Amino acid sequence: MTVLVLGGAGYVGSHAVDILLSRGYEVAVVDNLVTGHREAVPAGVRFYEVDVRDKDALSKVFEQEKNIEGLMHFCAYSLVGESMEKPAMYFDNNVGGCISILEVMQEFDVKHIVFSSTAATFGIPESSPISEKTPQKPINPYGESKLIMEQMMKWQSEATDMTYVALRYFNVAGAKGDGSIGEAHKNETHLIPIILQTALGKRDFITIYGDDYKTADGTCVRDYIDMEDLIDAHIKALEYLKAGGKSDQFNLGSSKGYSNLEVLETARKVTGKEIPSKMGERRPGDPDELVADSTKAGEILGWHVQNGLEHIIENAWKWHSSHPDGY
Ligand code: UDP
Repeated sequence: MTVLVLGGAGYVGSHAVDILLSRGYEVAVVDNLVTGHREAVPAGVRFYEVDVRDKDALSKVFEQEKNIEGLMHFCAYSLVGESMEKPAMYFDNNVGGCISILEVMQEFDVKHIVFSSTAATFGIPESSPISEKTPQKPINPYGESKLIMEQMMKWQSEATDMTYVALRYFNVAGAKGDGSIGEAHKNETHLIPIILQTALGKRDFITIYGDDYKTADGTCVRDYIDMEDLIDAHIKALEYLKAGGKSDQFNLGSSKGYSNLEVLETARKVTGKEIPSKMGERRPGDPDELVADSTKAGEILGWHVQNGLEHIIENAWKWHSSHPDGY
């Protein structure tokens, strides 16, 4: 039986492939290599360079991979700022891809899918931490596209015998412990990679976006989840569905928030580098605090966070310092 990993050459998908293989799963990968990297997928893994929106090409993959036990779906655009500039592109790729995947799953009678949703579906939450009961009110096209995907999955699972788990990630960071795969975006926008690129001297300084938020030190607070913990949740979710678990949604975070300045200090400690920083203006659309309540994932999936911020930054540093220019 095969787990088909859609977007398996991307940052999260490539770690899923790696950990699935290490746990003895048979894996095949689909990726259009627009943001993914062929080098991030081990040579022996069956690889299809296909855009999931191309339904005919995706159907051919399902024809060849006769024994698909479930899908993990990671292919989506995921930058909030970019989505504000190019909303149609986000809906086309994220929602369009999802339509095609659901149609092909139904055609080939594939029963289970675990997919990446996001804390961005919640928008600016009224209270913190954010549980599955918190209302979802996205404030950007990226979050909206993922919420639409969740809703499409819901209706599809009601109409057919397909079941799904939506995993709403908070701030994913980290890398494989040996530093061989990690985060490599063309235009990096995320806090931890930018801090580490500054530690490497590839940037002169990091700008912290605003210190007038309603938080203890005035900088935004986020909940960082380690890549290995995140993938563990996907595997637990797939096993849960295979065991007959009903479709559901889970918020995935460590349930602990760190301010941007705390992240910077931790990175200084881990790397031993000075990491020059400047205080800048707020970045539009940043909520003060996003912290997950992941109690439900613990109760239903038996998932518990193992790794904290230091571990996350240690592994991310192994990747960045050994691959300063990415793949
Ligand atoms: N951030 C920052 N400087 C940067 C990049 C990000 O101060 O160069 C802040 C950003 O404003 C937010 C936090 O770091 O408060 C996390 O941002 P990131 O883009 O990593 O993730 P997001 O929370 O947007 O998903």
